[in-house]
Amino acid sequence: MTCIAFIGLGNMGGGMAANLVKNGYVVRAFDLSDVALAKAVEAGAQRAASVADAVSGADAVVTMLPAGKHVDAVYSDAVFGAAAPGTLFLDCSTIDVATARKVIAAAVERGFEMVDAPVSGGIAAANGGTLTFMVGGTDAAFAKAQPILSAMGKAVIHAGDAGNGQAAKICNNMLLGASMVATCETFAMAQKLGLDPQTFYDISSVSSGQCWSMTSYCPLPGVGPQSPADNGYQGGFAVALMLKDLKLATEAAQQANAAVPMGQAAEALYQMLANKGEGGKDFSSMIELLK
Ligand code: NAD
Repeated sequence: MTCIAFIGLGNMGGGMAANLVKNGYVVRAFDLSDVALAKAVEAGAQRAASVADAVSGADAVVTMLPAGKHVDAVYSDAVFGAAAPGTLFLDCSTIDVATARKVIAAAVERGFEMVDAPVSGGIAAANGGTLTFMVGGTDAAFAKAQPILSAMGKAVIHAGDAGNGQAAKICNNMLLGASMVATCETFAMAQKLGLDPQTFYDISSVSSGQCWSMTSYCPLPGVGPQSPADNGYQGGFAVALMLKDLKLATEAAQQANAAVPMGQAAEALYQMLANKGEGGKDFSSMIELLK
C-alpha cells in the first residue's frame, strides 16, 4: 500500500489528507499545530512526531504550507535528510516561482523527483476532492504524481517544467483579481448612472463585458448565481489570500520584466481592503470599497 507523508494539515491540507485516506493511501501526518494534527488523525491519518518521522519510509511526500519560506525550510531541514531514495515530492502550497524552482532543483540534485502542484479551489474543493492542480516538473515526475493528485482533485494539468505550476496559478489569480476589481467598479458606476444592477447584469452578461467574476461570482447580492455576496461576503476566497497571490504575481512580474499595471493596481486595492480590517471577507467584497 502506498504510504504518503502529509505535512501541513490546515484549512486545505486537512481535507486533502482525508481524501487520500478515503482513496486507500496510508497517510502519515505532521503539523506544528496539535489541533490540525488531531483532525487529520480523526480522518484516518497516522500521527507522526515530526516531519522526519512522517517522511521516513514513505513513498511520497505532500506539503501544503503557508509560504515559500516554510516550504524551503521543511524540505532543506528535514525532508531531504529523512526521505528514502526514490521518494516522490509534491508541493501543493502556493509559493513564489523562484523558491519553487530552487527547492525542486535541490531535490533533483539529491536524486529525487519533485513537482510543484498548487491548487485552484478553496476549502470546500479541498474537502470535496474537487481541486484543480497545476503541475510543474518533468514528464516522468508528472506521471508519478498524477494518481496521487487525482485522489484529491477533479483536474490535474501538466503546465510544463519545474515552477510552471506556480506560474500558472499566479497568472490565473492575477487575472481573477483584476477582473473582479473591474467588475466591482463597473457595477458601482452603473448604479451611480441610474442603471438597475439586475438590468445591467442581464445586458452585460450576454455582451462583450462578460467575465467569470460577473457571471459565476457576481459581487452584488441578489444578482447572478448564488455567491458569497449573498452571504455577507463570508466564506469563498479571502481578501488576504487574494492579496498574497497578487503580491506573488507582481514579484514574479518584476523578476520576469513583465509589465502588469492592472495586476499592480489590483494589488494596491486589495491592500487597502486588507488595511481596513477586511482581510477575512471574500474577495468580491471589493465592491464595498469602490461603491
Ligand atoms: P493554513 O494556515 O490553514 O495551513 C497551513 C498549515 O501548515 C498550518 O496548519 C500550519 O501549522 C502548518 N505548518 C506551517 N509550518 C509548518 C512546519 N514547519 N511543519 C509542519 N506544519 C507546518 O493555510 P491553508 O489555507 O491550508 O493554505 C495552505 C496553502 O494553500 C497556502 O499556500 C495557500 O496560499 C494555499 N491555498 C489556500 C486556499 C484557501 O482557500 N485556503 C486556496 C488555494 C490555495
